[in-house]
Amino acid sequence: MLNRKIYLFLFYLILFINGCATVPRQPVIAPGQGIYHTVGSGQTIYRIAKTYNVDIQELMRINRINDPTHIEVGQKLFIPGAKVPLPVEVYRPIPQELVEKLVGPKHLSSQRCYITIHHSATLEGNAECFDRYHRHRKMGGLFYHFVIGNGRGSGDGEIEVGWRWKRQEEVNRPYDIQICLVGNFNKELVSNAQFDALVKLIRVLCRQYNIPLENIRRHQDVADKFTECPGSNFPFYQLLTELKQN
Ligand SMILES: [Zn+2]
Repeated sequence: MLNRKIYLFLFYLILFINGCATVPRQPVIAPGQGIYHTVGSGQTIYRIAKTYNVDIQELMRINRINDPTHIEVGQKLFIPGAKVPLPVEVYRPIPQELVEKLVGPKHLSSQRCYITIHHSATLEGNAECFDRYHRHRKMGGLFYHFVIGNGRGSGDGEIEVGWRWKRQEEVNRPYDIQICLVGNFNKELVSNAQFDALVKLIRVLCRQYNIPLENIRRHQDVADKFTECPGSNFPFYQLLTELKQN
């Protein structure tokens, strides 16, 4: 009996030393384990967090960053759990001319007075899959005029034009333009590229349709039922401040 115990002990000891591949082990990040990433030109904390698959808010907390829009080239960021430095996609703001081209010329027949902002409440997606989902929910297809991607399902900061905008069809509120940002902003942050695209898109729409700033609103501001849309992390006041400048 005692021998059997000793054999078993030795068996597990050998397994432990060799590292048994059949026993799944949870990756445990020991305190201090990780690497330093040196911020390169055009990199954002959003893209860095996505590249290393770490939570952006956790990354900001560890590196004592309060404002995600302000990181500097050459700054060293501690990336918990990472083993090697990875190449990070450079942030390229969407060109103004492209935004104007996507919006197209003013539709003389349509009166647009409001802009309502949503989040998809999903971590990824694009106009095509939301269209499918909205058809499935018997909403008659994509409920948004514009969808702004987050790099998962469509490009980060990419503006997709929905078919309702192309056909100038109303959604459910007359005179309203519906913009959806891909992401769940109760859990994550709006990417720099999305924010930049949103500001440019709203500027073009406001100019074309003479929409005053006070008519830009979040879904939660107009919903008949309770909704947190577009999420507690959506930087609405930052957006209004940005739009007020020129
Ligand atoms: Zn919404």
